[in-house]
Amino acid sequence: MKKLLPTSIVGSLPKPTWLSTPEKLWSPWKLEGDKLSEGKQDALRISLQEQQLSGLDIICDGEQTRQHFVTTFIEHLSGVDFENRKIVKIRDRYEASVPVVVDEVARQKAVFVEDAKFLRKQTNKPIKWALPGPMTMVDTLYDNHYKSREKLAWEFAKALNEEARELQDAGVDIIQFDEPAFNVFFEEVNDWGIATLEKAIEGLNCETSVHICYGYGIKANNDWKKTLGSEWRQYEEIFPKIQNSNIDMVSLECHGSSVPIDLIELIRGKKVMVGAIDVATNRIETPEEVADTLRKALEFVDIENLYPCTNCGMAPLSRNVARGKLSALSEGAEIIRKEIAT
Ligand SMILES: [Zn+2]
Repeated sequence: MKKLLPTSIVGSLPKPTWLSTPEKLWSPWKLEGDKLSEGKQDALRISLQEQQLSGLDIICDGEQTRQHFVTTFIEHLSGVDFENRKIVKIRDRYEASVPVVVDEVARQKAVFVEDAKFLRKQTNKPIKWALPGPMTMVDTLYDNHYKSREKLAWEFAKALNEEARELQDAGVDIIQFDEPAFNVFFEEVNDWGIATLEKAIEGLNCETSVHICYGYGIKANNDWKKTLGSEWRQYEEIFPKIQNSNIDMVSLECHGSSVPIDLIELIRGKKVMVGAIDVATNRIETPEEVADTLRKALEFVDIENLYPCTNCGMAPLSRNVARGKLSALSEGAEIIRKEIAT
């Protein structure tokens, strides 16, 4: 029988201090050339080991080979100038130095396929690979060529689809598209966001997922959350269209947030990666707290469709905290499995 409640993380884990400065986004690499390639692979091995030791069922690369979940993909495309960067406001929230689209964008070569093959060789467990979603990519750069968010998103969707097909051939079981921008630009999501996402998953036989969250636990996001009121109903705006889409799974922020958990009912039938670990605090959840969130979610998700997960990536956390959270997730899911078995 298939194991119930397969656990996984959203994607990123902190990197070792010898590879890049910890607890920082866009942290520069500390190694160069061949040493950097080797260092990234070693970090990937460690992140795999930590996930397996804490008992996770679906394994990620911990994003050890990428500087950032969006810009690293973009930097591999032609038509993008990543030397002469510009400052933009990401998700209307915080400023960042980002690459500039200067010409037609195209994927000339694979981005993560070799990394995925490497991870595939190291474990027999199912593996999940995260890619940025088209809308979040558009929102994380400066466009000096298309001058249309929608047009650029369609181009990105084509590039993502090429990458996703090769990741699938490399043995990836679940391909996840990170779309935190879906929680901000509702009109665009319903206009073209989900359509471009469906373009990105076109022709795939592996499972596909979209991750929609309230962001890393950085100050700009935490300040933004304070403006959202006592109930965060953003998911309500986009779930009906997601429910009707071809995407198989939806990864959500549910723990320690003000998202009314009953909103998940709107995507009944989809597989749901329920965030049961808060990445915006250094406090490590107890397994019982994780179990509590899963129990609440089970009122609105059929058990065979529930995948315990984290709220978002853990890149900005300390390694000790991240490790503690991995174990709590695993142990919390086990509490529910035992309850169901008795
Ligand atoms: Zn996230």
